Amino acid sequence: MIKTVTSAELPVNEIFSVKKQIIKNGRSHKRVCIVTGTHGDELEGQYVCWSLIQKVRENIAQLDGILEIYPALNPLGVNSMSRGVPQFDLDMNRIFPGNKNGTFVEYTASEIINDMDGADVVVDIHASNIFLTEVPQVRVNVESVDNLLELAKTINCDFIWVHSAATVLESTLAYSLNSIDTPTLVVEMGVGMRITKEYGDQLVSGILSLMKKIGIWKGKTEEPRTPFVGRDEDNCVSFLNADKSGVFLPAIKHWTDVEKNQEIGKIINPLSGETEEILKSPIAGKVFTLREYPIVYAGSLIARVLDTSKT
Ligand SMILES: [Zn+2]
Repeated sequence: MIKTVTSAELPVNEIFSVKKQIIKNGRSHKRVCIVTGTHGDELEGQYVCWSLIQKVRENIAQLDGILEIYPALNPLGVNSMSRGVPQFDLDMNRIFPGNKNGTFVEYTASEIINDMDGADVVVDIHASNIFLTEVPQVRVNVESVDNLLELAKTINCDFIWVHSAATVLESTLAYSLNSIDTPTLVVEMGVGMRITKEYGDQLVSGILSLMKKIGIWKGKTEEPRTPFVGRDEDNCVSFLNADKSGVFLPAIKHWTDVEKNQEIGKIINPLSGETEEILKSPIAGKVFTLREYPIVYAGSLIARVLDTSKT
């Protein structure tokens, strides 16, 4: 059943609406919400929504509870390939919990929060941006780690990144929901404007495991992989930034082990024919973020490396 969560009239005869798919079976009122499309240029979650609906429908007798799927919290952004809310020049993930007496976007945000309030778990799927590829990971802030860590471990991601208090963004959907005791996991994976089917399949398998842990899925699930758990406070992540501008050529594959000072890639100059910079890993570890978009400027992020000895 498709339901409209909130809607508003647009200036010229169009209707703005946020919709969700509701799949119910059995007696349980437990509810899991899968959410994506807050950033209109992040599309990895679109495949996850479709594939999950297919899998659950094919095995509907195994569902005992409610699964709700929200493919596009920012439908204008998804439809127009724009990260923020077009016309408002606004990052939708910076306006939660919204305001029911506010602007149209703030009102939408508050209706979204009201709709998800009380769910047993919410999974908010993001997909980096066009510049960086991310291994499937859960981002948890240190304030809610005690509530979320066991849930995060079931979702079949490779890495759980526990952010320090200093980097917590209070205006996100996840922060707002966690602060009203609706446990919300933020998943980051893949790259903007693309669909990485392999990661999508990995996450769908993880969501079924999560549904099983919550008690709304009786079907067969795969054993979730054991993620690395790294905390900012342990300095588990090192950043590698470009010193020069140019065209980045990677020398390694994403999510591989590297030694300290191993070449991650180089920055080349296609006009002079020179190599401007050889980029080396600051530490030994696993490259979980890697530059995807080749054009870089001084200061551009090239890679993030996880020190697995600190996980
Ligand atoms: Zn995002």
